[in-house]
Amino acid sequence: MVGLQKGPGLGAKKGSVAAPSKTGSTQNMSANIKVVVRVRPLNMKEMQSYNRIVVDVVDDKMLVFDPKEETRPLFYQGVQQPNKNFLKRANKELKFVFDDVCGQEASNQDVFETTTKEIISSLMEGYNCSVFAYGATGAGKTFTMIGTQENPGITYLTMEHLFYTIYSFKKDRDFDIGVSYIEVYNENVYDLLKPSSTPLQLREDSKNGVMVAGLSLHSIKTARELLNVLEDGNKNRTQHPTDANAESSRSHAVFQVYVKMRYKISSQLRMVKLSMIDLAGSERASASGCKGDRFKEGANINKSLLSLGNCINKLADGSNYIPYRDSKLTRLLKDSLGGNCKTVMIANVSPSNITYEDTYNTLKYAARANKIQLSIKKNIVDGDIRASQYVKINEELKKKIKELEAKLSLSSLKTVKESDGVKEKCKLIDLY
Ligand code: ADP
Ligand code: MG
Repeated sequence: MVGLQKGPGLGAKKGSVAAPSKTGSTQNMSANIKVVVRVRPLNMKEMQSYNRIVVDVVDDKMLVFDPKEETRPLFYQGVQQPNKNFLKRANKELKFVFDDVCGQEASNQDVFETTTKEIISSLMEGYNCSVFAYGATGAGKTFTMIGTQENPGITYLTMEHLFYTIYSFKKDRDFDIGVSYIEVYNENVYDLLKPSSTPLQLREDSKNGVMVAGLSLHSIKTARELLNVLEDGNKNRTQHPTDANAESSRSHAVFQVYVKMRYKISSQLRMVKLSMIDLAGSERASASGCKGDRFKEGANINKSLLSLGNCINKLADGSNYIPYRDSKLTRLLKDSLGGNCKTVMIANVSPSNITYEDTYNTLKYAARANKIQLSIKKNIVDGDIRASQYVKINEELKKKIKELEAKLSLSSLKTVKESDGVKEKCKLIDLY
């Protein structure tokens, strides 16, 4: 895992559409992108088949991919046998450090607390914000973004928090909230809330930023209303069964919230945008056993995910040229990435060895995005310091266990001796 120096890299965006926040508010550049990994619980299929856990969540910042299996020495007739596993692939044992790692037990509420909760205050300050759910099909992207009735996803929780926040600002600002729900499928943009077979065109102007011509905007007043909007939109998403998952999503679903704020005293008008994107599955096209149209879909998906990654990395490098035009997705999000924007990337993975390659690729992608925050030195050193701390803690614990075992065997010896003594006494009593 490599990383770049913390610093104004993200701000070095030239020729981009000016975000409304450029009018003065201060910002912490290093906090512009947050990368969080979420590890979902094993599903039934994974639980029933031979399973090895390949993601070991160490704590809320660190995970180990492909950890070493415990070395259990094999004894035969009291003699330790040579390791017969010499043909087995060596474990990678890769340590990754992210802004946050959410383990299997994390609820959507927990994920919300560590990801999007804080971006609402950035939104109120005038930053465009974007949230991406990245990962292979079946890794938990839609569960994270949309969730279920009992466990609503972060889109709902974020909107709930937005309405709550707006309420506290009502005294000095008027608000107008509009939402749109778009699908980017095969490099075409479709309105999920006003279905049509004709794709929509992207327009860009210096005043309004990126616009989707003819896109329907829906005014909502509560987070509950949002659930209906999302449900309606999701019914229109393009899904095709592939070998990887019967309900795999082959498109990127982009939910956008436009917050119009008018300051009561100055009458100044500000418009900010929050984009929440449920990305298409990141697995390789060949992994889904696809041919023809499905293969083309796969190639387009990989292209847009690659160009999203490239844009994020170039922004981090402080490059003057950011290749937004390489894909529809990045063109659409040009005014919500880098510069005066906050970005949260949630990389979803399964802990099972069944999806070993997908998980490895997702972690590598996430680690590349993470470099914006962590310097090469800091990243590696952090990881190693942590790891060495864990080794130390582990050694201390082992020492303690040995001490306790020694104490235990001493006291059991005493008990045996004492009970022997009692037995002797009993024998003596019996004799009388
Ligand atoms: P993706 O959108 O990445 O293809 P899904 O979100 O549809 O994946 O998740 C695949 C399956 O796993 C779904 O049945 C979903 O309910 C379940 N799932 C995913 N993440 C979790 C989680 N954190 N807890 C419980 N079930 C989950
Ligand atoms: Mg999905």
